[in-house]
Amino acid sequence: MRKVHGNDSFQRVNYLYQISKYMAGKNPALSSYYGNLIINIGKKNVLKIHPDIKRQVCKKCRCILVNGVSAKMQLKTKNKRKSLQWKCNTCETSKTFPLDKNRERLVWLERAEAVVEVIA
Ligand SMILES: [Zn+2]
Repeated sequence: MRKVHGNDSFQRVNYLYQISKYMAGKNPALSSYYGNLIINIGKKNVLKIHPDIKRQVCKKCRCILVNGVSAKMQLKTKNKRKSLQWKCNTCETSKTFPLDKNRERLVWLERAEAVVEVIA
């Protein structure tokens, strides 16, 4: 079987993401701690954390954002452009994502050509 660069770290990120999400409603401080570890592992090992995970981490307190539990999700329309706003309940920081179907806006990892090989 081929080895994947940073496989251990990805497994660790996966595990930390799960406990961080589990802790989001129970203990926000612990959730932030695990969220912080996720970002630090990515930085230390120079890995690309998947956008789906990265978008759920609050950019200020690094708590995992779960709608109705640790964050509030709102649909906003400005100049006919729809966007999704996440507001963290812990630190009140908000992050906004554009919601148009323009493929140019997709991050590299979300595009079909980013997948070179699937390793089971
Ligand atoms: Zn926050």
